[in-house]
Amino acid sequence: MLWRGATEWPAFLTGRSMIVAGGMRAKVVVYPIAEGWRPGVKLTNWAVAVRLGDGSSPPPRREDWSRPGSREELMPHVERFSIPHLNVSQLIEQTPEFWEYPMCDRDPLPRWTHGRITLLGDAAHPMYPVGSNGASQAILDARCLADNLVAAEHPVQALVSYERERLPKTAEIVRSNRTGGPEGVIDAVEELAPNGFTDIDKVLSHEDRAAIVRGYARKAGFSPDKLSHAA
Ligand SMILES: Cc1cc2nc3c(=O)[nH]c(=O)nc-3n(C[C@H](O)[C@H](O)[C@H](O)COP(=O)(O)OP(=O)(O)OC[C@H]3O[C@@H](n4cnc5c(N)ncnc54)[C@H](O)[C@@H]3O)c2cc1C
Repeated sequence: MLWRGATEWPAFLTGRSMIVAGGMRAKVVVYPIAEGWRPGVKLTNWAVAVRLGDGSSPPPRREDWSRPGSREELMPHVERFSIPHLNVSQLIEQTPEFWEYPMCDRDPLPRWTHGRITLLGDAAHPMYPVGSNGASQAILDARCLADNLVAAEHPVQALVSYERERLPKTAEIVRSNRTGGPEGVIDAVEELAPNGFTDIDKVLSHEDRAAIVRGYARKAGFSPDKLSHAA
């Protein structure tokens, strides 16, 4: 389950920093999204994702964009987090309202294009929103579709070549997001040092950590080279 809210909160670290704590079992993400009404205060977005049940329990309530979250349900999951620079329990307790979103996706479709109609974004590939994905993939779809429309002799051909290019890539991301995004680096460290550590480099080298993050960015099409080429 994912709970998400935003409230005005004193800036932390650089004032533009993002905190990602925890792994796929339980994770807190906090980052500023706009200036606040007073200096030193930012409109701060937070999200808490927790794996509930063991796969044998009934599925959560169906997804909805606007179902209010329950503080009673959420707070026990938040209390286990101790994050330097930010009191996350206070941040959430003082957020006047927040929403719950079951983390869900759909299996990749065999095809998107039917004659003059094709799919794009969530309609084509709803995925777990991890790794800043979802909207980002919708934008990459739009870029690819526009390029194909410009290049093709007939628009229907463009839809087919767009699908040929984007469907396998996004299907891979749908499947890999089920096991986590770039924050898989946190899961890897947690697995190797379940009781904590004093020197992270002794658990997993900087090189290995960077390789996990880079690997995800490449799969998601976020490589700077590719993006600047597409632009
Ligand atoms: C909690 C949460 C956090 C997320 N975080 C991120 C993130 O950090 N980064 C990221 O990249 N992505 C994130 N996503 C995913 C992202 O929001 C979606 O992937 C993205 O919005 C998909 O865009 P879309 O245009 O395909 O679909 P949508 O944004 O769903 O747009 C579809 C639109 O069509 C409208 N519509 C539906 N039916 C009809 C109809 N019959 N007639 C007319 N209009 C209609 C809807 O009202 C809606 O406005 C997150 C999603 C959730 C739920």
